[in-house]
Amino acid sequence: TIGHNLRRTVERYGDREALVVVSQGYRATWRQLWDETTKVALGLLAFGVEKGDRVGLWSPNRFEWVVTQFAAARIGAILVNLNPAYKTAELEYALNQSGTSVLLLSRGFRQTDYRKMLEEVRPRCPQLRVSLVLDDDWKLLLDNGTRVSERTLTDREATLQFDDPINIQYTSGTTGFPKGATLSHHNVLNNGFFVGEALKLGAEDRVCIPVPFYHCFGMVMGNLACASHGSTMVIPGEAFEPLAVLQAVGAERCTALYGVPTMFIAELDHPRFGEFDLSTLRTGIMAGSPCPIEVMKNVQSRMNMREVTICYGMTETSPVSTQSGLEDPLDKRVGTVGRVHPHVEVKILDAATGAVVPRGSPGELCTRGYSVMLGYWNNPEATRTSIDAAGWMHTGDLATMDEDGYVKIVGRIKDMIIRGGENVYPREIEEFLHTHPSVSEAQVIGVPSEKYGEEVMAWVKPKPGATLTQEELVRYCTGRISTFKIPRFWKFVDEFPMTVTGKIQKFRMREVAVAELG
Ligand code: ATP
Ligand code: MG
Repeated sequence: TIGHNLRRTVERYGDREALVVVSQGYRATWRQLWDETTKVALGLLAFGVEKGDRVGLWSPNRFEWVVTQFAAARIGAILVNLNPAYKTAELEYALNQSGTSVLLLSRGFRQTDYRKMLEEVRPRCPQLRVSLVLDDDWKLLLDNGTRVSERTLTDREATLQFDDPINIQYTSGTTGFPKGATLSHHNVLNNGFFVGEALKLGAEDRVCIPVPFYHCFGMVMGNLACASHGSTMVIPGEAFEPLAVLQAVGAERCTALYGVPTMFIAELDHPRFGEFDLSTLRTGIMAGSPCPIEVMKNVQSRMNMREVTICYGMTETSPVSTQSGLEDPLDKRVGTVGRVHPHVEVKILDAATGAVVPRGSPGELCTRGYSVMLGYWNNPEATRTSIDAAGWMHTGDLATMDEDGYVKIVGRIKDMIIRGGENVYPREIEEFLHTHPSVSEAQVIGVPSEKYGEEVMAWVKPKPGATLTQEELVRYCTGRISTFKIPRFWKFVDEFPMTVTGKIQKFRMREVAVAELG
């Protein structure tokens, strides 16, 4: 279990640094982190938290997050990760859907007062017994723990099983309503371990984690990868800020850095980039969305991250299924999402026939192994449609695999357009439109058509100051992409419908388009 794994790290590396949170001035060794975790575990036991009870955590990145993550796992509680960007409707949904009875929240984030928002939804969350504000009640939680004997904790730890549910993480809601992926010790601990193995992490490594903890990128690929390798977690601040990251890497002599592509771009473009000593960096992870080749090259040469890797995965698979290796050639490392992780299987199926496709042909990526979630929380029907009888998770992602096992993500099945029997992949058209000098962002969807079944529609956000017309874009496409791929409908916008995690929701674009086109 996560607790046993942490204890092993404490035994080996007790006096080495475990966690640094720059914004809070917090530093702890593995032994200190363990002791703090014990106190919080006892505090939660004093509040009557039983095995399997849901403990919500609604906070940006702080040391209390990490401590609570381990404390909850040690008493067999199910941690419910709540996104710091949630508004009241999302908070209420997640609290009630998960049945959260104890909530730990911070005072607020980016000018929002969490306490006020909680007051608003509380009358509609009858099962919520206890709420504690990290900024004010942390000491109360620790003091409360002194009323409980350590024996109670040891007894509880003895009842834990590696496949107990310990975490509910809501998916981003890119394709519909967010679903709560229920994960076990076994799921996330192993995934964190294998991510750390791929990066060759060791006790000398110091990993800078600017990605959020509520998401598996921070919690599993960050915290659990470090905890299973004795590496130091370096947290620059509550939320991403490029300058704070550069400062933390330089001052804390980090050896690894994580981020989504836009984070790396913001760091590289920062006017003060040149002031920081990044020579200690050697590796890291770029993930979450397609990673442009130029950015990968710059990260390697200008940030010294010669061994940077790319990951693909989803919340339901703990999350990583494929990762590029330190030794992969550059074209594979940037053009693909790497190869399948150890102890995990991947196959690519023809959507219509269910047969494995030939190498290089697109189909649905399916994965099986320790990493597949226990199921969707309180949603057996959704679980049944995603995980088949043989244990394969059907990801809904379209991918190809080459002769050497490198995987490319082509797009999502739900987003694929079938026009007059022809498969059209939006991502291909989007990438082409991005080559137009006046296009800032382009998104392509399918809209119903009597004649063709579906027609291609593009939403385009022009660059600031640029004027774009439909005629100009059609002219640009003509002769450069196949005629059936040229969008029939165009819409110019300033923004796209997005999830709280910043992913574009194409199902909402389709709703708008259908209403407007009639
Ligand atoms: P929902 O399931 O609620 O619609 P979501 O699928 O966006 O939302 P997540 O679990 O956060 O929620 O995201 C996983 C998805 O992100 C994958 O299924 C895949 O479509 C996409 N993805 C993840 N990593 C990559 C990558 N390296 N390249 C391209 N796409 C990726
Ligand atoms: Mg999904």
